Amino acid sequence: MMVVEYGDDIIIIDAGVMFPDDEMFGVDLVIPDTTYLNDKKHRIRAILITHGHEDHVGSIPYILPMLGFPPLYATRLTQGLINVKLKEHKLLDKATVNLITPGDKLDFGQFKAEFFRVNHSIPDAIGIVLHTPIGVVVHTGDYKFDFTPVDGIPADLGTLGRIGNEGVLVMMGDSTRVESPGFTPSERVINDSFDKIFANASGRILLATFASLLSRVQQVIDTAVRYDRHVALVGRSMVNNVQMAVELGYLNIPKNVLIRAEDINKFPAGQVVVVCTGSQGEPTSALTRIANQDHRLIRIQPGDTVILSATPVPGNEKMVNRTINNLFRQGAEVFYQSISNVHVSGHAAQEELKLMLSLLRPKFFMPVHGEYRQLVLHAKLGHSLGIAADHIVVAEDGDIIQVSPDAIKLLDHAACGNVFVDGLGVGDVGQIVLRDRQVLAQDGILMAVLTVDKETGQPVAGPDIISRGFVYMRDSEELLEAAREHILASFVGLNGHASDWSFVKDKIKHTLSEFLYEKTHRRPMILPVVMEV
Ligand SMILES: [Zn+2]
Ligand SMILES: [Zn+2]
Repeated sequence: MMVVEYGDDIIIIDAGVMFPDDEMFGVDLVIPDTTYLNDKKHRIRAILITHGHEDHVGSIPYILPMLGFPPLYATRLTQGLINVKLKEHKLLDKATVNLITPGDKLDFGQFKAEFFRVNHSIPDAIGIVLHTPIGVVVHTGDYKFDFTPVDGIPADLGTLGRIGNEGVLVMMGDSTRVESPGFTPSERVINDSFDKIFANASGRILLATFASLLSRVQQVIDTAVRYDRHVALVGRSMVNNVQMAVELGYLNIPKNVLIRAEDINKFPAGQVVVVCTGSQGEPTSALTRIANQDHRLIRIQPGDTVILSATPVPGNEKMVNRTINNLFRQGAEVFYQSISNVHVSGHAAQEELKLMLSLLRPKFFMPVHGEYRQLVLHAKLGHSLGIAADHIVVAEDGDIIQVSPDAIKLLDHAACGNVFVDGLGVGDVGQIVLRDRQVLAQDGILMAVLTVDKETGQPVAGPDIISRGFVYMRDSEELLEAAREHILASFVGLNGHASDWSFVKDKIKHTLSEFLYEKTHRRPMILPVVMEV
């Protein structure tokens, strides 16, 4: 999510989600921190969306209410995907999602916005040009240059050249694939791989990909038609997205090709293709369930071929590998990116990044979208094309960058953390809750319950010890007995503090934690519960 400000006007570009990493126990989603905008809501003129991927639209339902429902602007397919989300969150009647077409010019206060088409792994992706009184700001969005894209609409090199000729003050460019030399291959190369696999498969073919990778879904359907196979869609988001894309005319599926997932077994195995979610090994997705023999309708059978047409998002590798292992275990033939050309990236490799920089020839350059190392590499690449080092800024989340006609610099840093979504709670799980969850996951919990005499301050019953995730209680009688004795020992000579329960609790905690660490080298969370009678 990016905020662009000029004078009194604010434009927001994209509002995505991040998926939680291993450390964020129980967190479902991570959304941007919008605190900076709290006292500036009345100045927000528009939220412009570059394309329909989760890391660009996923937090819209969460941040819209916080920002007072500013108007959104998106191309047709992106609008459709956003509306699916708004509907799920029952926000459809409160939000406005305006349709834009590449070539439109719109006024937002002192900003004039225009849009150019780029290629990406989802149709209808655009880059954004913001004309301001002091110069032009270009945000590329996620992009690559594909001269033979599946949807037949190449990136708009003409407009990019024209904008470059008119002069660009600052360019913000996608850095995701800066580590790869050369050009990202066209989506078309996948057709050859699919052809080979389909020609040799005797049984069913199961293909997993992102539900938003509609161009890939189109390629599977085209190949299925060539090999006289029917296609069944499995997975809620896959079914919803395909249905929406068909209605909007972004997918072309001949009559009688689609069959219901329930009817798969009515067709010979050699005439069936299943397109499903789960390319990331997500625990509740269709492919993971199939791999775990836990799916309602589908079990792997001899002769099945499985294609994983996606790269694991960093962090998901383990889950993806486990899924692939399980599929092999059950006898499937599995094709995935490291052994077969079944996926190409949607992001620009080095030569395409150079092409973009050469077309736009910005005065100032700010790499965006990617991990810190990728931003730095993109900055170096820009420098190698002749942009002066002091005309390039590598910014991190929260950094406020000031651009004037003759300088770009880091001005300030806005308070900015991750906001966690867990179940129905947005932002209520903070660092403290998360740290507790980490302790619980690492060393478990131990509760010491005891009853204390109000008058004397001495224990009259207990302590009882209950623990989970620390030691197996039945095998640790000796340790727990010793722990009980340590708790009781901490009461000796405590008369003066008899009614100061927080002092007593602290003492129990301290004594126990030292003792347990000495015996086990573990630090479980210790919860003393003291009742007085
Ligand atoms: Zn994307
Ligand atoms: Zn992205």
